[in-house]
Amino acid sequence: MGTIVTPTGDSVRATSPAGEMEWQRILREAVRDPDELVRLLQLPAHGARLPRTGEAARFPLLVPRGYLARMVPGDIHDPLLRQVWPLDDENQLVDGFGTDPVGDATATTEPRWIHKYEGRVLFVASGACAVHCRYCFRRHFPYADGPGLSEAWRAGLAQVADDPQISEVILSGGDPLMLSDRIVSRMIEEVAQISHVQRLRIHTRLPIVIGERVTPALVRTLKATRLTSLVVVHANHARELDHEIAGALARLVDAGIPVLNQAVLLRGVNDDFETLRQLSLRLVQIRVLPYYLHQLDRVRGAAHFEVPVAVGERLVAELRKCLPGYAVPRYVFERAGAPHKELLA
Ligand SMILES: *Cc1c(COP(=O)(O)O)cnc(C)c1O
Ligand code: SF4
Repeated sequence: MGTIVTPTGDSVRATSPAGEMEWQRILREAVRDPDELVRLLQLPAHGARLPRTGEAARFPLLVPRGYLARMVPGDIHDPLLRQVWPLDDENQLVDGFGTDPVGDATATTEPRWIHKYEGRVLFVASGACAVHCRYCFRRHFPYADGPGLSEAWRAGLAQVADDPQISEVILSGGDPLMLSDRIVSRMIEEVAQISHVQRLRIHTRLPIVIGERVTPALVRTLKATRLTSLVVVHANHARELDHEIAGALARLVDAGIPVLNQAVLLRGVNDDFETLRQLSLRLVQIRVLPYYLHQLDRVRGAAHFEVPVAVGERLVAELRKCLPGYAVPRYVFERAGAPHKELLA
């Protein structure tokens, strides 16, 4: 029994050890201690000094062991490590990098509900995640403010029911799959009762970091609902998609659920042609379509991940020359206040 309290706000109650799901156990045993990570990855201690103050320290290290196992031991520049390892760079204040880069605050109709784009509403179903990505654009999201999950859910859902324009509900976060299958299933049932809603989308990174999260119960729920369900995962590098993760995603695809990937263009992680080409090829190999390649949202603490748009445009143009059209992601940028994501290439 226990409560996982995350720095971003919400706490996630684990069920009793007996009833605990495998993925919850894996999450509980995730690496949070930087010294342990240094030991496990045999990193040189001098390159692994952690910032103890400021921005970086407020968003602590969190990485499940299975994800760690996909990193190359001894390599301080490993692209998977770079996504999770706190650096001093995060404490630098850089002009133009703020706490709400995509204008979530102004698009919030009810607490936790973001209605920015026509026909679709997004619900921040959980402030917690299974991994802490250093470049995360929601790292400053005020998850802990306002009403709790069920109150916010009910209030916003009533608005969805009153608005026939809305045809799609997106469960996002944080990571919505931090919630139990029982809660996810109940939420989906409630959305399905609103007759004008046709689609249910889940934005999640959990299947990429803990494949066990794709439980038979989750797959059943997504398959059984009258809504068309889609799952959008988040992988940035082909090496994240090992055999086990491919198997987890195949459980969704085999059930007839479209699985799309969104990646973020990140300096030192995937900002070169060959890495992006391998990511696309690996995704289509495992029947996941590359959906978006995001230009980094300019969130405070993430400036060192930024890649110039001109570089991104060139990279995507090169991809287009050598890959089938369905394997080329749309390169997009989210401008605060814009009616849709802006296509860069
Ligand atoms: C990205 C996003 C969506 C979904 O946009 P699509 O282009 O349909 O993928 C919806 N709401 C918000 C707030 C978003 O950021
Ligand atoms: S899983 Fe998504 S929401 Fe969570 S830290 Fe990573 S990028 Fe941010």
